[in-house]
Amino acid sequence: MAGELILVVEDRALNLKLLRLILERRGYRVSEASDAEQARASVSKQRPELILMDIQLPDVDGLQLTRELKSDNGLRGIPIVAVTSCAMVGDEQRALAAGCDAYVSKPIDKTKLMDRIEWLLHRGPKLPSSA
Ligand code: MN
Repeated sequence: MAGELILVVEDRALNLKLLRLILERRGYRVSEASDAEQARASVSKQRPELILMDIQLPDVDGLQLTRELKSDNGLRGIPIVAVTSCAMVGDEQRALAAGCDAYVSKPIDKTKLMDRIEWLLHRGPKLPSSA
Protein backbone atom coordinates (compact mmCIF):
# COMPACT_ATOMS: atom_id res chain seq x y z
CA MET A 1 0.00 0.00 0.00
CA ALA A 2 1.08 3.52 -0.69
CA GLY A 3 -0.12 4.93 2.60
CA GLU A 4 -2.88 7.15 1.22
CA LEU A 5 -4.69 9.34 3.71
CA ILE A 6 -8.30 8.34 4.34
CA LEU A 7 -10.64 10.60 6.29
CA VAL A 8 -13.17 8.66 8.34
CA VAL A 9 -16.26 10.71 9.13
CA GLU A 10 -18.06 8.81 11.88
CA ASP A 11 -19.68 9.98 15.10
CA ARG A 12 -19.49 6.72 17.04
CA ALA A 13 -16.17 6.17 18.79
CA LEU A 14 -16.31 2.40 18.52
CA ASN A 15 -16.96 2.42 14.77
CA LEU A 16 -14.20 4.94 14.31
CA LYS A 17 -11.78 2.74 16.22
CA LEU A 18 -12.74 -0.32 14.19
CA LEU A 19 -12.41 1.45 10.85
CA ARG A 20 -9.06 2.94 11.85
CA LEU A 21 -7.82 -0.52 12.77
CA ILE A 22 -8.96 -2.07 9.48
CA LEU A 23 -7.49 0.74 7.39
CA GLU A 24 -4.18 1.02 9.24
CA ARG A 25 -3.69 -2.72 9.01
CA ARG A 26 -3.89 -2.29 5.23
CA GLY A 27 -1.26 0.43 5.31
CA TYR A 28 -3.48 3.49 4.96
CA ARG A 29 -3.10 6.61 7.06
CA VAL A 30 -6.28 7.66 8.85
CA SER A 31 -7.66 10.95 10.02
CA GLU A 32 -10.91 11.24 11.92
CA ALA A 33 -13.87 13.57 12.09
CA SER A 34 -16.91 13.00 14.27
CA ASP A 35 -19.15 15.62 12.69
CA ALA A 36 -19.50 17.66 9.52
CA GLU A 37 -17.71 20.67 10.91
CA GLN A 38 -14.59 18.65 11.75
CA ALA A 39 -14.84 16.93 8.39
CA ARG A 40 -14.83 20.23 6.47
CA ALA A 41 -11.82 21.42 8.46
CA SER A 42 -9.94 18.20 7.84
CA VAL A 43 -10.75 18.13 4.12
CA SER A 44 -9.46 21.64 3.52
CA LYS A 45 -6.41 21.27 5.74
CA GLN A 46 -5.25 17.75 4.88
CA ARG A 47 -6.91 16.97 1.58
CA PRO A 48 -7.43 13.24 2.11
CA GLU A 49 -7.20 10.88 -0.89
CA LEU A 50 -10.57 9.32 0.01
CA ILE A 51 -13.41 9.87 2.49
CA LEU A 52 -15.47 7.25 4.33
CA MET A 53 -18.71 9.03 5.08
CA ASP A 54 -21.13 7.92 7.76
CA ILE A 55 -24.59 9.03 6.69
CA GLN A 56 -26.01 9.55 10.19
CA LEU A 57 -24.08 12.42 11.75
CA PRO A 58 -25.06 14.69 14.65
CA ASP A 59 -25.04 17.98 12.75
CA VAL A 60 -25.36 17.96 8.95
CA ASP A 61 -26.16 14.51 7.52
CA GLY A 62 -23.52 12.74 5.49
CA LEU A 63 -25.42 13.01 2.21
CA GLN A 64 -25.75 16.75 2.61
CA LEU A 65 -22.06 17.02 3.41
CA THR A 66 -21.31 14.91 0.33
CA ARG A 67 -23.36 17.25 -1.89
CA GLU A 68 -21.47 20.16 -0.43
CA LEU A 69 -18.05 18.64 -1.09
CA LYS A 70 -19.01 17.45 -4.57
CA SER A 71 -20.21 20.92 -5.53
CA ASP A 72 -16.74 22.31 -4.82
CA ASN A 73 -14.54 22.18 -7.92
CA GLY A 74 -11.40 21.75 -5.86
CA LEU A 75 -12.77 18.87 -3.82
CA ARG A 76 -15.09 16.87 -6.04
CA GLY A 77 -12.26 14.64 -7.20
CA ILE A 78 -11.95 13.10 -3.74
CA PRO A 79 -13.81 9.77 -3.81
CA ILE A 80 -16.47 9.38 -1.11
CA VAL A 81 -17.66 6.01 0.15
CA ALA A 82 -21.00 6.23 1.98
CA VAL A 83 -21.42 4.05 5.06
CA THR A 84 -24.90 3.58 6.40
CA SER A 85 -26.26 1.60 9.34
CA CYS A 86 -29.92 1.28 8.45
CA ALA A 87 -29.65 -0.41 5.08
CA MET A 88 -33.00 0.29 3.48
CA VAL A 89 -34.25 0.00 -0.05
CA GLY A 90 -33.13 3.08 -1.92
CA ASP A 91 -30.22 3.94 0.38
CA GLU A 92 -27.64 3.11 -2.22
CA GLN A 93 -29.44 5.12 -4.91
CA ARG A 94 -29.78 8.08 -2.55
CA ALA A 95 -26.09 7.91 -1.70
CA LEU A 96 -25.06 7.74 -5.35
CA ALA A 97 -27.50 10.53 -6.26
CA ALA A 98 -25.91 12.72 -3.58
CA GLY A 99 -22.57 12.22 -5.31
CA CYS A 100 -21.06 9.35 -3.35
CA ASP A 101 -18.79 7.17 -5.49
CA ALA A 102 -19.62 3.94 -3.66
CA TYR A 103 -21.76 2.62 -0.86
CA VAL A 104 -21.36 0.04 1.89
CA SER A 105 -23.78 -0.87 4.67
CA LYS A 106 -23.06 -1.69 8.31
CA PRO A 107 -22.10 -4.10 9.68
CA ILE A 108 -19.07 -3.49 7.50
CA ASP A 109 -17.92 -6.31 5.28
CA LYS A 110 -14.16 -5.70 5.40
CA THR A 111 -13.44 -7.36 2.08
CA LYS A 112 -16.15 -5.42 0.27
CA LEU A 113 -15.04 -2.16 1.86
CA MET A 114 -11.40 -2.68 0.93
CA ASP A 115 -12.35 -3.68 -2.64
CA ARG A 116 -14.23 -0.43 -3.10
CA ILE A 117 -11.52 1.69 -1.54
CA GLU A 118 -8.81 0.10 -3.63
CA TRP A 119 -10.88 0.40 -6.78
CA LEU A 120 -11.57 4.07 -6.19
CA LEU A 121 -7.98 4.92 -5.32
CA HIS A 122 -6.34 3.02 -8.13
CA ARG A 123 -8.90 2.44 -10.87
CA GLY A 124 -11.70 4.99 -10.18
CA PRO A 125 -13.89 6.89 -10.74
CA LYS A 126 -17.15 4.90 -10.39
CA LEU A 127 -17.94 1.35 -9.42
CA PRO A 128 -20.42 -0.57 -11.55
CA SER A 129 -22.63 -1.33 -8.52
CA SER A 130 -22.47 -2.41 -4.91
CA ALA A 131 -24.85 -3.33 -2.02
MN1 MN B 1 -23.44 7.90 12.79
